Amino acid sequence: MFDVLVIGVGAAGYTAAIYAARYKLKTLIVGAEEGGMGITAADVGNWPGEIEIRGPDLMEKFKKHATSFEEVTHKIGRVEMLEKMADGHFKATMQNGDIYEARTIILATGSNKRHLGIPGEKEFSGKGVTYCATCDAFFYKNKTVAVLGGGDSAVEGAAIAAQVAAKVYLVHRRDTFRAEPYWVEKVKSKENVVFVLERNVLEVLGEQKVAGIKLDKAFEGSDILAVDGVFIEIGSNPSVDLAVQLGCRIDEKGFMDVDKSMRSSTPGVFGAGDVTNGSNYFAQFTTAAGEGATAANGVFNYLQGDQHHGWMQGAC
Ligand code: NAP
Repeated sequence: MFDVLVIGVGAAGYTAAIYAARYKLKTLIVGAEEGGMGITAADVGNWPGEIEIRGPDLMEKFKKHATSFEEVTHKIGRVEMLEKMADGHFKATMQNGDIYEARTIILATGSNKRHLGIPGEKEFSGKGVTYCATCDAFFYKNKTVAVLGGGDSAVEGAAIAAQVAAKVYLVHRRDTFRAEPYWVEKVKSKENVVFVLERNVLEVLGEQKVAGIKLDKAFEGSDILAVDGVFIEIGSNPSVDLAVQLGCRIDEKGFMDVDKSMRSSTPGVFGAGDVTNGSNYFAQFTTAAGEGATAANGVFNYLQGDQHHGWMQGAC
């Protein structure tokens, strides 16, 4: 029996494991995708102490730190089912049939990339349509690509794609960006990035592979842009399936509802990172790490007898 089962191997999960280990809690950390969303960050310039570091390198450091403790067991695999047993402990059934038991849970399950749901998107998925510009831009050397969206993922993605592609269309439905001004300035300085603003994409076009995108309004005389690749970077949805299995309350935006101690509405279950509505929905390495630390502290207090009273103005 573990004291705490941390599910998720991204910034939140690894930080939770580091803190849990230092509280001397017997900790199991499991997850399917090592590094979480963090590995998709090309250049991280906002992790204090590192002026610039690649996302995969930063996540490797997190993992090395978390697994340096003898209290931490690290497994890669997908948790299929979570159950709360009659005596209050939790049972996790893995996809491969393995079963783990723990006294508490920290869900750091992150999020999944959002899809647009337009004709051609599914058909050309993997044949020119992908959901991570920073991961896949490398395959489009000297080609023309479109990056869709106006947040950090899209704008950073366009800046990275511009380093290899001949031409990058940044297609956004508004004329202002929610991305950090740092990335907007960077992308504006690239001569091969063309801003296609106040346009929606209606369809991905092609035969065997992507050949273009159809816009809702003409741009420079045509509603079709000829492109070889389309990176859809329109945000993510929180991965709440396991939270739902445990009966945790989900907020009106679809995130796992947590209090200031990262407690969910289900006693013994805590949340951390992009899956939660903590940190005002701000999804950063720093906020994920902070939430992971707070969740581990919450687990420590809970196991010491703080029996979850007072959650969200007595909601449960
Ligand atoms: P996001 O901030 O939610 O931005 C999504 C973008 O896609 C928005 O510009 C939105 O347009 C657009 N969009 C959403 N649905 C759309 C639709 N159906 N059709 C057309 N456009 C649509 O998502 P994100 O950029 O993936 O960022 C997620 C979180 O990760 C943020 O907290 C971000 O700061 C963080 N992140 C940080 C970094 C970094 O610091 N380097 C890098 C990547 C991500 P509107 O603006 O009109 O709503």
